[in-house]
Amino acid sequence: MHPSSAPSALQTHIIESLQSAKPTLWAGRSAKEQSTHDISAQQVQQAVQRFERFAPLLMKLFPELTASNGRIESPLLQVPQMQQALQLPQEAGQLWVKADHSLPVAGSVKARGGVHEVLEHAENIALQHGLLADGDYLQLASAAARALFAQHEVAVGSTGNLGLSIGVMASALGFKATVHMSADAKEWKKQRLRARGVQVVEHAGDYAQAVAAGRALAEQDAHCHFVDDEHSLSLLLGYAAAAPYLVAQIQDAKRTAGENHPLFVYIPCGVGGAPGGVALGLQQAFGPHVHCFFAEPVQSPCFIVEMLAGAQALPGLEAHPSVYELGLNNQTEADGLAVPRASELAADVVRGFLGGVFTVEDETLFRHLNLLHDSEALKIEPSAAAGFSGPRELLQSAAGQDYLQRQNLLPYMSNATHIVWTTGGLFVPDEEYTKFLQRGAALVSA
Ligand SMILES: *Cc1c(COP(=O)(O)O)cnc(C)c1O
Repeated sequence: MHPSSAPSALQTHIIESLQSAKPTLWAGRSAKEQSTHDISAQQVQQAVQRFERFAPLLMKLFPELTASNGRIESPLLQVPQMQQALQLPQEAGQLWVKADHSLPVAGSVKARGGVHEVLEHAENIALQHGLLADGDYLQLASAAARALFAQHEVAVGSTGNLGLSIGVMASALGFKATVHMSADAKEWKKQRLRARGVQVVEHAGDYAQAVAAGRALAEQDAHCHFVDDEHSLSLLLGYAAAAPYLVAQIQDAKRTAGENHPLFVYIPCGVGGAPGGVALGLQQAFGPHVHCFFAEPVQSPCFIVEMLAGAQALPGLEAHPSVYELGLNNQTEADGLAVPRASELAADVVRGFLGGVFTVEDETLFRHLNLLHDSEALKIEPSAAAGFSGPRELLQSAAGQDYLQRQNLLPYMSNATHIVWTTGGLFVPDEEYTKFLQRGAALVSA
């Protein structure tokens, strides 16, 4: 499948840099990387349409969706003060934020993938039982539908946010819901779920172990649907469905993205489903003119590792390695990104067009969380800050310059739009957020 070749000097340098837990950029789009899993624009369109069919029901279940007519969406915001705080010159383009930290229902980007998978599952069950015969989705809030869903369980393994999204959506429809939480999961997320009647099972191990435990339990029960973050196509398509609305927002903002007007998108990456889905949707919309870069903690760069393994740059390691095999510990305050092994599905889908992946130190997350609060009054969680070092990484590192040169983007950077995807934060309790801010403030003034 891959041409067998020894790792290049550049690849060796990247691996050494990862092992020393220094911020590192791996840039893609070389001839070696090919996607091995194709997802059609029609599949993404079906996810978009599913959200539309369910909008009346969502509005009924979640009053906070009244203003948006049942659409779970976030604004696209220009952030000039943050651009200045980050010292990004205008000649390098304009900085924007896609504000998924404010997504209703789940408070994170998981409101896209997680909600979509629960809706698809509910739709399938309802169709099998003739509940949607007249196409009225409000039927799914009826006593009969709830009694049916109550016989079914939805389970998931999570570091926190996916569990929140699945648990909230599944319990709102009347499903039994079980969330297997890894040791990284924050206490307030567990409490929020328990308050909604969701069963929370705590695991001492990491995210991959929580997923494995949940999957094994669910397999023994025919009435239990396990949302498998490491393999799920439905999740990925739910994230990809973000693209058409963003395309419209970019137009409304009078920004041009296309030939000679590059669009850069920086998205925090855990297992890779959320950024992979978003990147797929944007690739279908903008083709080669969108450049998606994923952001990972320096101790959890599972997606870079997966990309390097695919390019056979990790001799001596198995095909689907974890970050532990590089001697890293997967310890990070970015709980949504504390993932040791990437989704192979996400990796196979994006390999052929991914711009790249970069790593970020935890201190930088807190610094940027604080800067965003002070400059633009936006409240995000640490995981959601990972994208903000992207533009600089791209503009100032050797690997970034090499990418811009290879893609012939250097003459057009003043036309560029840089979108940082802020992936979570809405439901972070005030006392937690205050601690994040203080930690960031100490670093900013240091
Ligand atoms: C889950 C999550 C991500 C990354 O999504 P993956 O699908 O795990 O890659 C990024 N940011 C936040 C806040 C998240 O909760």
